Amino acid sequence: MKNIFKALSVLSLLLLNTIHSSGQCPYDNTAYLQGTAPTVIGNFIEAAETWAGEFNRVTGMVAGNTYRISTCNTPTYDSQISIYPAGGGTLIASDDDGCGTSGGPSSIDFTPTVSGDYDVLLDYYQDAQNPCESNTIDMTMRVTLISTGGSQNPPDLTIPVVVHVVYNDPNTENISDAQIFSQIQVLNADYRRLNADFSIVPGAFSGIAADMKIEFCMASRTPSGSATNGITRTQTSVLEFTGDNAVKSSATGGKDPWNPQNYLNFWVCNLGGGLLGYAQFPADLATSPETDGVVIGYKYFGNTGPAVAPPYNLGRTATHEVGHWLNLRHIWGDASCGDDFVNDTPTQEDHNYQCPNFPHITCSNGPNGDMFMDYMDYVNDNCMAMFSEGQKVRVQATIAGARSGLSSSLGCQVVGIDEIGWLSGLSISPNPGKGEFRISGSFPAGEKLNVTVYNLMGQIVNETKVVDQAGLKIDLSNSSAGI
Ligand SMILES: [Zn+2]
Repeated sequence: MKNIFKALSVLSLLLLNTIHSSGQCPYDNTAYLQGTAPTVIGNFIEAAETWAGEFNRVTGMVAGNTYRISTCNTPTYDSQISIYPAGGGTLIASDDDGCGTSGGPSSIDFTPTVSGDYDVLLDYYQDAQNPCESNTIDMTMRVTLISTGGSQNPPDLTIPVVVHVVYNDPNTENISDAQIFSQIQVLNADYRRLNADFSIVPGAFSGIAADMKIEFCMASRTPSGSATNGITRTQTSVLEFTGDNAVKSSATGGKDPWNPQNYLNFWVCNLGGGLLGYAQFPADLATSPETDGVVIGYKYFGNTGPAVAPPYNLGRTATHEVGHWLNLRHIWGDASCGDDFVNDTPTQEDHNYQCPNFPHITCSNGPNGDMFMDYMDYVNDNCMAMFSEGQKVRVQATIAGARSGLSSSLGCQVVGIDEIGWLSGLSISPNPGKGEFRISGSFPAGEKLNVTVYNLMGQIVNETKVVDQAGLKIDLSNSSAGI
């Protein structure tokens, strides 16, 4: 039914409202309370005893944030929730039985596309003819911030990533660009707390789940200043690597790292020894720069690819290992009831495997038990979904300390045409622009020019080869905007 409504004009919507269409309450309610939208994940504001036929105004909602607006805590009545711009206007969103009980309370996850104030109307679903009734009900309406991530919330740091694919069998181990890109997307979601499965975090811990404010880019510039898509590929005679760092050196069948002060080096290879992956802690960067970085088995990198299969198929091996690379310890402290040097992660007896039931109490850490859904435990990929605020403190100290070279790295910056040696005589116009570009100028006789256009994910969107000095036109008019 809602899809049909969407297709109707505004005039028709108004008409539908006058006959109290299901799921949408008209903007005819009276104001009750005003509150400021929460700014910390897990925090909420409440309007207790909101009567049917009243609305609460929520001020300062941020575009891109997601707020859960719910009456699930007071399930006595069959409520409906409708969201309007402050003061009225076109209905933005609504819910009837979102708590999961037919004829019960309501819950809706609302992500405003425009920052500002919104009116949340509460009504009582009375009957089919008059679904939005002002009536003598009182329910508690709660507005909880469950995730952030709008453009107004930039990262503290974007880390340039180079992925060294070291393969023996070209059919299985030389993983695709798409598999590599999928891993970068997983990292960007997990380190911004934008992972779609965040809802598996129990309420006892969701309030301290951190937006680490770190993002990752595929390097667009090599340490020497050349353009790159951030991927190197090396065939090796080594059938299987272990945790001995051989993959990190060309002398031992691997690939040398890029300057680890400025790049996160990943090596993806056939990794044996029962390892999914391993990482070097930042304290060793000064003394052992040649082995700094993260090694991941090719079956566990990214969340797509022919060899990627449960239970380690969602890219969380890299999320975990990058945590180590940023100085996070295992959450059990690598000892029985050990210390991970983080204040808000409960002491727990040992690692957890698979997918424990909440709460899993050890080391007298009741009632909430182990934070086993933290990325620094050993559970299955689909059972881990958070870092804590305390872990973020530790990571922030690392990026300001041992890994401070990342913040001055040029690795994420696109190489300008005037930086490319003999190409400096060339120009691009219009720049910026869209559609058709022209490259003009002259280049040495005998030189051949290959022009490759990448998008921000490092994927090729256009390739053109030129063999003479005539002006070159590149047509990007069929490419989507924003690349
Ligand atoms: Zn680990």
